[in-house]
Amino acid sequence: MTEAHTGNTPSLNNIKELPRQELEAAMASFGEPRFRAAQLHRWLYSQQEQSFGSMSSISSELRRKLSEAYEIRSAEVVGNESEAPGEAPSAQGTTEKYLMRLPDGELVESVLIHSAERMTACVSSQAGCPLQCQFCATGHMGFKRNLHSFEITDQAYALQAAAEQAGRRLTNIVFMGMGEPLLNLDNVFEAISTLTAPDYRFTLSEKRITISTVGLVPGIERIASSGLKTKLAISLHTADQQLRERMMPAAARQYPLDRLAAAITAYNSRTGQPVTLVCMLLEGVNDSPEEARRLGRFAKRFLCRINLIDYNPIVNFGFRSAHSATRDAFVRHLLDAGLHVTVRKSQGAAINAACGQLATRTGPCGNEAQ
Ligand code: SF4
Repeated sequence: MTEAHTGNTPSLNNIKELPRQELEAAMASFGEPRFRAAQLHRWLYSQQEQSFGSMSSISSELRRKLSEAYEIRSAEVVGNESEAPGEAPSAQGTTEKYLMRLPDGELVESVLIHSAERMTACVSSQAGCPLQCQFCATGHMGFKRNLHSFEITDQAYALQAAAEQAGRRLTNIVFMGMGEPLLNLDNVFEAISTLTAPDYRFTLSEKRITISTVGLVPGIERIASSGLKTKLAISLHTADQQLRERMMPAAARQYPLDRLAAAITAYNSRTGQPVTLVCMLLEGVNDSPEEARRLGRFAKRFLCRINLIDYNPIVNFGFRSAHSATRDAFVRHLLDAGLHVTVRKSQGAAINAACGQLATRTGPCGNEAQ
């Protein structure tokens, strides 16, 4: 990554806060044609240029006007931590966690997950999260603000730079970091549009991007009608409405299971795509045979795959991952019901970089939510 702004309180607006349409309006206000906004966008995101003065395809007069009206401020990496050899789950790669400082000083975490076939960037969409799921460190931080689209793309570029250092490239992006992406969909869509721009230096197919949600129905409906080819993951965790309301009170009370099932069914028919139901099995909470049967009945209502993941312990949260024998029995119930099930060993637990563990305070990576 190029050097980011670190100076005193900025006096000029950050041009990266303008989404593409507003960039066009800003160029129009300078009397410039529309294609100039596309040129500028390319400099800012494909080239990741940090100075108007270096934008050689733009006239010196316009560069001067831009410098008088705007600054370029980016998110920057201020810390990182990797799983030590031996800490990563066997047969999988390592995980690196990056602490990113946003231009206003807020901090978010991003995770790079190495595996033999993939280099996956897990990016944050909000600083904190308002939904306060009981098992999640981010939820316990409270909510600071939505990220601008550039603060999402900058995370991906930082992780791409880290992947390049390992001689590889990002192959996938998942919106599973801090925050609920469906509460910040305008900026998520804008970021996806930039990250999939066909002739940019870094570009990825929409099909390689997964958006994850705890089940916010209006956002699911919006994605279904967006025309995007991205994948959708629903962090369900239980098909028992009462238990769901205890585990994920904000999302579950607002969007009960029947409404969620209807939205997923509509998503299936609109996109022709299945969703992934993500369930984290917690010992004595949602790992019983009855829970498995209930989940099986729910999942048969629409087109889906089920992904069972380990719970990653968080200090003072009091939850534990289900025993492997219990989990195996749970899987058998689902398979017997004819469902497609995968079991994923979660990566990054040793550095609090795994699902539900991301939380920042003011120090470098490695802090825990307590
Ligand atoms: S699980 Fe997701 S939606 Fe729930 S509190 Fe954590 S970040 Fe927010």
